[in-house]
Amino acid sequence: MNQRVDYVFKVVLIGDSAVGKSQLLARFARNEFSLDSKATVGVEFQTRTLTIDQKIIKAQIWDTAGQEMYFIFYQYRAVTSAYYRGAVGAMLVYDISKPQTFEHTVRWLEELRGHADKNIVVILVGNKSDLVTQRAVSIEEAKEFAETENLFFIETSALESTNVETAFLTVLTEIYKTHC
Ligand code: GDP
Ligand code: MG
Repeated sequence: MNQRVDYVFKVVLIGDSAVGKSQLLARFARNEFSLDSKATVGVEFQTRTLTIDQKIIKAQIWDTAGQEMYFIFYQYRAVTSAYYRGAVGAMLVYDISKPQTFEHTVRWLEELRGHADKNIVVILVGNKSDLVTQRAVSIEEAKEFAETENLFFIETSALESTNVETAFLTVLTEIYKTHC
């Protein structure tokens, strides 16, 4: 099938390892979820085609390994550049039950701002909202950080499929509004 495509938007997933980046992508691209998800090796992307404002948008979502890759990224600037090149959106993911992953979002943001286009649309995503009893990052502090840094913010659960669609659509719609 040769479907007409009006725009291709590249969106990158960033954040520490095991926060749920790959499962968010699996949920969005294929409506799948896996509890024993394998750590991502290298870089890969998946696409989903959707309609915004009667335009056919192909979302190309890039996924990579997290923290363990972080240092490799610094050693191989060419890889970092390739990952961010042409990206018009980013989802900066942390795990609401792991405060460290939230604290590290500052560093991810620095890396993003150092490599990506300055008009990139960024959403801060607090994933694993289903882990209610293990919550260690409050909605308030995350919201405050997002406001200070000019990011969109949402909490999601890839497991329960909560807000995943909304998270991606928020980024894609904003990209459409600012770039098209
Ligand atoms: P990545 O390293 O950021 O890509 O993280 P993965 O997507 O591989 O997920 C890491 C682990 O967290 C896996 O065991 C997933 O099944 C689990 N996971 C991902 N999303 C959620 C979620 O929303 N809720 C819960 N409870 N577990 C999740
Ligand atoms: Mg992964």
